[in-house]
Amino acid sequence: MTSDRYDVVIIGGGVTGCSTAVFLGSEPGFDGKVLIVERDPTYQDAPSAKASGGFRQQFSIPENISMGLFGIHFIKHLDEYLSVDDSKPDVAFRESGYLLLADEQALPTMRSSNDRQRKMGADIAFRRIDELEERFPWLTLEGLVGGFLSNGNEGHVDPWLLLQAYRTKAKALGVDFVKDEAVALHQEGDRIVSVELAKGGEIACQTVVNAAGAAGAGEICKDLGIELPVEPRKRCTFVFECREDIGPTPFTITEKGLAFRSDGKRFIANLAPPADRDPPTLDLEVDYSYFDDSIWPELARRVPAFEAIRLTGAWCCHYDYNTLDQNLIVGRTPWFENFYLAAGFSGHGLQQSPAVGRALSELITYGEYRTIDLERFGYERIVKSEALMERNCY
Ligand SMILES: Cc1cc2nc3c(=O)[nH]c(=O)nc-3n(C[C@H](O)[C@H](O)[C@H](O)COP(=O)(O)OP(=O)(O)OC[C@H]3O[C@@H](n4cnc5c(N)ncnc54)[C@H](O)[C@@H]3O)c2cc1C
Repeated sequence: MTSDRYDVVIIGGGVTGCSTAVFLGSEPGFDGKVLIVERDPTYQDAPSAKASGGFRQQFSIPENISMGLFGIHFIKHLDEYLSVDDSKPDVAFRESGYLLLADEQALPTMRSSNDRQRKMGADIAFRRIDELEERFPWLTLEGLVGGFLSNGNEGHVDPWLLLQAYRTKAKALGVDFVKDEAVALHQEGDRIVSVELAKGGEIACQTVVNAAGAAGAGEICKDLGIELPVEPRKRCTFVFECREDIGPTPFTITEKGLAFRSDGKRFIANLAPPADRDPPTLDLEVDYSYFDDSIWPELARRVPAFEAIRLTGAWCCHYDYNTLDQNLIVGRTPWFENFYLAAGFSGHGLQQSPAVGRALSELITYGEYRTIDLERFGYERIVKSEALMERNCY
């Protein structure tokens, strides 16, 4: 049941929007009414439901490491955050670890990121080739100098289950959901006063959060005359079985950016296409030729057992790709005092959803970040064109 007036209207019911609603609803200083407007509650094409599920701390920027640390804390303490009536959600968390393979060229940067990660409390260590060979006999490490491997606290969840757990908790906290599309934002001076819906309604509001993801955030900003350097970029995920039983693997990322992990008895893999095959697009057609000519050869190069695999599935969805620096843009824009956005996650939004939802709830409630300071990820850097580059970006 929805009304026509809310304190906070969140556009987009993916993990970012739902996490923001959960943290607002759980925030003692907030007692407003929250509405989530989601045009497709089946989430058929939403990355929130179709991501690879990875949670890691292997980043270079301190804020990304902090968000990674909070992300894993959140997953390991789901009962504190997402339980409803004593029922603890299961998001199929597997503490599989992440293994980032390093060649000579990347090593200095990865080492300095690792120093920072360790100082901040992440238990991730460099492993020499001989150590990796002993631990992962299925890997071929030619041309590499080693890899960075977590000692716990990294792994993956089932994104669909996490999304549903957020939704269930949000509903239990009194958040309303409406299946509709936000088509316009009406403003008076520097305030958004209402959100117009495709089915004809108009919702008056105190605050609006744009969490509309790859397919929607840019359009909403455009409607307000705000340029958002975020484009939908197609990413295909391929699922396969391997004839040889190599056992479970960590979430492995090769020096070429190929990411793969085991998923029960199966495996999933993806690799961002090169720039000349990576236009902005809303197309969702799976590019099987890319698997054949680029992904499979790279899989087999690092894991000889992957010569003999059987492709059993594939799907596509979109990165909300920040063309300036492939990092999120979060907070208020300079032009509207009650319009917040969280977009441009460029492949990290699932694991950052707990931290970003909490951060937005603080900003909306208190006008400031109280836990992780995400000020540097604000829109100001877009205005100044100052990139905040993540070195461990995949
Ligand atoms: C192949 C792939 C693998 C990934 N793997 C990982 C990973 O391992 N780890 C990780 O952390 N991240 C990963 N990501 C990234 C992660 O999935 C996204 O960053 C995250 O899901 C973004 O969530 P969101 O809620 O911001 O956006 P979305 O999931 O895009 O949700 C936005 C929602 O807004 C709705 N919407 C849009 N416009 C409107 C409108 N006008 N009105 C109403 N509703 C609207 C949409 O229907 C959608 O449901 C991956 C992404 C891809 C594509």
